[in-house]
Amino acid sequence: MTTRRKLVVGNWKMHGSHAANAELLQGILAARPFAAADVAVCAPFPYLSEVAVTLANSGVAWGAQDVSAHAQGAYTGEVSAAMLQEFGCRFAIVGHSERRAYHGETDQQVADKAQAALSKGLTPIVCVGETLAQREAGETEAVVKRQLSAVIHTLGQCIGEIVVAYEPVWAIGTGRTASPEQAQAVHAVLRAQLAAATARAADMKLLYGGSVKPDNAAILFSQADIDGGLIGGAALKAADFVAIARAA
Ligand code: PGA
Repeated sequence: MTTRRKLVVGNWKMHGSHAANAELLQGILAARPFAAADVAVCAPFPYLSEVAVTLANSGVAWGAQDVSAHAQGAYTGEVSAAMLQEFGCRFAIVGHSERRAYHGETDQQVADKAQAALSKGLTPIVCVGETLAQREAGETEAVVKRQLSAVIHTLGQCIGEIVVAYEPVWAIGTGRTASPEQAQAVHAVLRAQLAAATARAADMKLLYGGSVKPDNAAILFSQADIDGGLIGGAALKAADFVAIARAA
């Protein structure tokens, strides 16, 4: 019997505008309270200040989609954890597969970003996941364990403070969701790996991400080691995101 409270996080990716964000956030706010889940949205950097104003004291948290591994300095285009902290961010997604694939982020860079986030009191949502080729080659377990292992090694005992998101790359934005059994199997592997590193593993939140929709959220979230979701496409429509949060 788990006592872990569910967490549902929207990953807006590079979507949004002043008008679209206002409508989306009002739709989410109007649906409160979310009895069974903590809810958060991760917005593009330029919108964080307006998200912070809109969501202040609302019970809905917010965060960023990336964070620099560096504290400050000559890193053009980067945003530090201290800056995100100033805008009230509770979370920073790190190691999303789109950043690993398009920006060449390595396991160690992802781990360093997680550490940078934690150093300023932000909770990193560390994404791991295999490609379709890796799954078909039977490498899923090895890939996600390698990705998580870098973070465990870098954070030491602080590993207990992160959120992990298992996002199979082949399920992201494809409409092809991992089956509840496939997702649970990987979550169990990840929790066992965490348990070998920290006594807090049983309390840690492990999210599933990849084509979560209102009609598949409940069955995914009911799996023993799935503690909520990281939601992309379906987080852009208030009705869908609210339905997913309510499915938790
Ligand atoms: P999706 O994206 O829900 O659109 O598949 C999830 C993610 O990439 O975080």
